[in-house]
Amino acid sequence: MAIITGAAQGIGKAIALRLSDDGFNVVIADIAPQRAAMEALVAQIVANGRKAHCVDVDVSKQDQVETMVSETVKVFNEVNVMVANAGILDTTGVLDISLEQWERTMSVNVRGVFLCHKTAAKQMIKQGKGGKLIAACSISGYRPSGKCPSYCTSKWAVRGFTQTCALELGQYGIIANAYCPGSVPTPMSLQFAERLGREQGIADPEEMYKRSSHRISALPVDLETTDIAALVSFLAGKDSNRITGQSLICDGGESQSSHLASTN
Ligand code: NAD
Repeated sequence: MAIITGAAQGIGKAIALRLSDDGFNVVIADIAPQRAAMEALVAQIVANGRKAHCVDVDVSKQDQVETMVSETVKVFNEVNVMVANAGILDTTGVLDISLEQWERTMSVNVRGVFLCHKTAAKQMIKQGKGGKLIAACSISGYRPSGKCPSYCTSKWAVRGFTQTCALELGQYGIIANAYCPGSVPTPMSLQFAERLGREQGIADPEEMYKRSSHRISALPVDLETTDIAALVSFLAGKDSNRITGQSLICDGGESQSSHLASTN
């Protein structure tokens, strides 16, 4: 079975659908205001003949993460895969970001991954047959994106934490990896496009997203949430059993763009 946080929409939703197609029972976990979307997703998965359950959680709160894991064990008896996908984006630059904004990004994107992995790992060790910890990183975990200092820093931290988990928990058969999407059309990337649009005088975030996502890239394709879900499917499945501590980029070659630009 697999827990997916931030699964009410976007990449998390695509991951939940893909892992349930792969045969996993899934727990859809997200903040309470997302309850209706979570219930609709559970109904969709159940209609496909799979098992799913949803839990309200704020991943930045230790007691709520512990309740999410214990409720999962009550419903499905065990936890085999933790996908710590929930994340938030702040598009305020270094000179303007407040301490509160900085801490909020860190609390969800870093503390949230830490709490999910730690709590799931303890349960996996109790079960005695290993497991998989998978976290949402980003290409922003490898290179800065303009004016997202707290977000970039949080994703670099996720990469470091992933390597540490791999090193410390390998002795229990626990594997830790992260996925690093490029720009994927979700409510989060529209938020980024809205900020860019304000700067460039383009009012429609969808239009701005289209323009900004058509950067120099190795592959002339648009990335979809299902592309990221396919990578997570690989990381959750047995074909990746000898891969640990890695943060794998899935961006259609977007992160190669500076190299391509300099060689063109
Ligand atoms: P999104 O904003 O569309 O969805 C994020 C989900 O997380 C939402 O359902 C939201 O309710 C939930 N969430 C937010 N705070 C939470 C909290 N405290 N506790 C539990 N759930 C919470 O984002 P997305 O684009 O689907 O991104 C998913 C992950 O992928 C994030 O970690 C993001 O940083 C990462 N990512 C996204 C992109 C992209 O282009 N969309 C690129 C790189 C990395």
